[in-house]
Amino acid sequence: MQTITHLINGEITTANGRTAAIFNPSTGNIIRQVEMANTERVQQAIIAAKAALPAWRNTPPAKRAQILFRFKQLLEQHEEQIIRLISEEHGKTLEDSAGELKRGIENVDFATAAPELLKGEFNRNAGPDIDSWSDFQAVGVVAGITPFNFPAMVPLWMYPLAIACGNTFILKPSERAPSSALYIAELLSQSGLPKGVLNVVNGDKEAVDCLITSPDVKALSFVGSTLTAEYIYSEGTRHGKRVQALGGAKNHAVVMPDADLNNAASSLMGAAYGSAGERCMAISVAVCVGDQTADALIEKLVPQIQALKIGAGTEYGLDMGPLVTKAHLEKVSGYITDGVNSGAELIVDGRDLSVTGHENGFFIGGCLFDHVTPNMRIYQEEIFGPVLCIVRVSSLEEAIALINAHEYGNGTCVFTNDGEVARLFANEIEVGMVGINVPLPVPVAYHSFGGWKRSLFGDLYAYGPDGVRFYTRRKTITQRWIKRESHEAAQFAFPSHN
Ligand code: NAD
Repeated sequence: MQTITHLINGEITTANGRTAAIFNPSTGNIIRQVEMANTERVQQAIIAAKAALPAWRNTPPAKRAQILFRFKQLLEQHEEQIIRLISEEHGKTLEDSAGELKRGIENVDFATAAPELLKGEFNRNAGPDIDSWSDFQAVGVVAGITPFNFPAMVPLWMYPLAIACGNTFILKPSERAPSSALYIAELLSQSGLPKGVLNVVNGDKEAVDCLITSPDVKALSFVGSTLTAEYIYSEGTRHGKRVQALGGAKNHAVVMPDADLNNAASSLMGAAYGSAGERCMAISVAVCVGDQTADALIEKLVPQIQALKIGAGTEYGLDMGPLVTKAHLEKVSGYITDGVNSGAELIVDGRDLSVTGHENGFFIGGCLFDHVTPNMRIYQEEIFGPVLCIVRVSSLEEAIALINAHEYGNGTCVFTNDGEVARLFANEIEVGMVGINVPLPVPVAYHSFGGWKRSLFGDLYAYGPDGVRFYTRRKTITQRWIKRESHEAAQFAFPSHN
């Protein structure tokens, strides 16, 4: 059986350590295994990244960008292989994997602008004969720790920009879906990236803890669940690192009485059930303003949920694949039982789904709950499955207050035809990414991605302009060339324009 190992100093390592099984969630079969890096292995990656740093940080940004241009070409040429690896290990449909890859490539595009992004700021005559400028320099060795649900895109949020900014990088992908990240990293090596600039170590907590505690790793980018994000942030900052840690979510869509309900319903279908709900931007709560709105929306949703085309993620033409693991399937089913026990009305129950030819796959059909209330666990917690909860409220203000009271604040949206409603919502809502009639407002690569409250620990969002700030340190140089003949007396007062 194939063992996925690590990419260290430009070489794929040979397997000799502890391993974990990788499943194809559509069949339930083990398809390969992944080696879990121990401390010694991670240390090798850190040494390689540290050794590559001096030359790389002094490589002209335009030359770094040329490598990224070649990388982009290789990503596009190998699209089919990459999306098959994603779907095979994650279970999402091939079209969905293709979308993920395209959004990842957008970040490579953005990173190729490194010469422009790193230009800095200059001020002539900041004082008499004094010029001042700010330079944005590499932070050093940076590590990225990524989740299973976007195994290609989330790593591409991180290292193209980090290395474009002159850092060297160690990626620790999810052990549940590691193959596409390693495959893509090899494409970057083939693009001419010097050895050691990007290293990939696979593994679990042991590998992550080694990255957190190493004094040679200067910054950590994390994307994953909230409890792990909080752990990475508190431990990483305690060890003196710069940390951005993006966590989980519970994303609400407000449906106003004036909304175009046909469009709202089809938007909600994609946002709630696409990728089987395993997206940090998935809509999992529809907040309907007024009972009439709720009843009309449900009438439109039910037949569409029942008609979802569900099957093996490795086939084209489907709406939804399985969940990632058996354990996750059991967790999602447990939430549904909990919702029923706590008094919510389960209008569509997807638990009995069986996919012909894939009876051992980790499948669950789309589920819809009505009359969900804020005290229920299915409302409070991230389910990360194809489950949509309807909450009924009587006004926009009540909807906004509900969303603002939730512990998460990743994404949200409002469906309305009223500009005043849209403007008020965008202004008052305490959520990092907001859609107006856009159900998945995932910012394009030249903005930045991040949530509020317990959806993000740290000060800077991922990728885009915030990414440039995260992966660089500002250095401000104040320069004066003394005129040859001038002799100035010492000044003891604090330098100022006086
Ligand atoms: P996860 O937290 O289980 O794993 C993420 C990464 O952390 C993996 O690489 C894993 O190996 C590592 N990890 C797990 N437990 C650890 C521990 N105790 N100590 C150190 N490292 C540990 O997340 P997941 O299940 O892979 O991904 C799904 C979660 O990620 C969901 O909560 C989802 O909302 C979130 N997510 C958030 C965003 C975002 O941008 N906010 C994007 C994608 C996914």
